[in-house]
Amino acid sequence: MNATIKGIARETLSFVLEVSKSTYPNEFAGLLQAKDGIITDILILPGTESSEVNAVLKLFMLPNVSAVGSVHSHPSSVIRPSKADLRLFSKTGNHHIIVGHPYGPDNWKCFDGSGKVISLEVLDVDLEDEELL
Ligand code: ZN
Repeated sequence: MNATIKGIARETLSFVLEVSKSTYPNEFAGLLQAKDGIITDILILPGTESSEVNAVLKLFMLPNVSAVGSVHSHPSSVIRPSKADLRLFSKTGNHHIIVGHPYGPDNWKCFDGSGKVISLEVLDVDLEDEELL
């Protein structure tokens, strides 16, 4: 799963913001999965809506899950990785999205494995609902 990431599907980003809103004031965390270089899927763990450190930690303890990175919300609205975030970012993938309250369309940033802000394009793609076919 080291293919170049071209961006994230707009629908997927909206989904992240919606879930963040609905779990507020708790934290939401998930893993990013990509298809053909586009992030289209979020793997959400059940019961991650506890404290920030717990949620993110649990996420990275998942065995055998391929992910290009992670996503989690900061109910504090500070869009900056914490020390714990940075430790975990370095473990899996190279795209880590943090969304901050109030979870508007621009309340997010993407970081690389070392915690540096990187640009991530939001792409208008048609997501096929494969599960329904
Ligand atoms: Zn965090």
